[in-house]
Amino acid sequence: MKKNLLFATQIYHQKLSPSIPAFKKHLRSIEEEVYQIMNMDTAGVIWSEKNYKNGYTSYSSQDQLHQLSSTFSDLEQQIRKHVGRYLRQLDYNASPKDLIMTDFWANIMATNTIHTAHIHPQSVISGTFYVSTPKNCSGIQFEDPRLGFFMNAPQVKSQPRPYNQRFVQIFPQAGDLVLFESWLKHEVPLNSSKEPRISVSFNYGWK
Ligand code: FE
Repeated sequence: MKKNLLFATQIYHQKLSPSIPAFKKHLRSIEEEVYQIMNMDTAGVIWSEKNYKNGYTSYSSQDQLHQLSSTFSDLEQQIRKHVGRYLRQLDYNASPKDLIMTDFWANIMATNTIHTAHIHPQSVISGTFYVSTPKNCSGIQFEDPRLGFFMNAPQVKSQPRPYNQRFVQIFPQAGDLVLFESWLKHEVPLNSSKEPRISVSFNYGWK
């Protein structure tokens, strides 16, 4: 029997650079810079206390990291190449030249931080670069975009094959880049790591 897997939801997951010592050092310097941003970002810390319990995000206050320092503008240049590959993978008639990074922000998720399900409205491609992923930290969970159509469908078995799961969590490692289409609902389940899980996230929109 021929198996036809149609209407795929494609998540792009790629190591940004090989795990060489120099790159690990680079990740540590990004991490230091993220903490520097947090230490200067009083408005963001206050916002996070209200809206991002136990964690810190610069989403509401410092969302232009690519304008802030060469570390993040260099990172944007690298990410941009992967956005191009992802667009080709999706067979979209668009290239990175058509898109611009509209937001770039940092996230520090300490123990018991959660980021509930959401989409990124008015963007085209969104994603995250993982800076620190300690033991037992959460991955990122994606929701089947057809969920609303399944109202009368049978329950899925307890151990379904990945392509039949309604929710799929992937576990990127430090140095990994994950890209997805901005309309795809996702969340970060409760973080159980003792050390903070650190990432930087971004949106690309139409130019
Ligand atoms: Fe998100």
